[in-house]
Amino acid sequence: MNIVILLGAPGSGKGTIADRIAAGDTASFKHVSSGDLLRGAVAKGTPAGVEAKGYMEKGELVPDTLIARMITDVIAETHGDLTMLLDGFPRNVAQAEILDKLGVPVKSAVLVDVPDEIIADRIAGRRVCPKCKAGYHVKALPPKVEGVCDKCGGELVIRKDDNPETVKDRLAVYHRETEPLVAYYEEKGLLRKIDGDQGPDRNAAAFKAAM
Ligand code: ADP
Ligand code: ZN
Repeated sequence: MNIVILLGAPGSGKGTIADRIAAGDTASFKHVSSGDLLRGAVAKGTPAGVEAKGYMEKGELVPDTLIARMITDVIAETHGDLTMLLDGFPRNVAQAEILDKLGVPVKSAVLVDVPDEIIADRIAGRRVCPKCKAGYHVKALPPKVEGVCDKCGGELVIRKDDNPETVKDRLAVYHRETEPLVAYYEEKGLLRKIDGDQGPDRNAAAFKAAM
């Protein structure tokens, strides 16, 4: 196994890109989203979920050890010759160092570049399926039937942390905590960059070519 890290602001389209690449070739790729793992734990009410909930609602990062343990578990139970598309982890330098210590080779870290001005609109239109985690956008990526998931028929919802105030906080956290990872991976010669404003299909194609 090796790892490709998706770097980018909240709403930059990392999840949509990773979903598309993994759905197109499930034998070669596995999409792991830290946000989905955490939301799953919150929904189930596990001890980690109970601890994570408050941080997530405020748009803050959950403690490094909490998310690192979840990612370590997923890596431990993943076998075979595949590329893990790691979306949302690492999110700060401390987490990147934890990942390095796990010893799984990082093939590249691809920055999905989207200006902040575009992010707010994107997140405002975002809808998600709580059942299968599929993501939609009311304008850019609408479901066939309004409010209903194409893939599983689930009822689409707006994420709790997608309100404009929390989005502002999440962007600030991104610039302060996560953006230093661009330099971190650049120094290792692993950084790639794509324009994340090309629409879902072309974003995914550009990502695949860059990774
Ligand atoms: P987005 O990329 O749109 O911000 P995510 O689903 O990746 O959304 O994350 C949602 C929330 O989950 C974050 O705001 C944060 O509270 C928490 N979270 C996700 N990944 C991490 C991480 N690696 N470290 C700390 N907190 C995380
Ligand atoms: Zn669904």
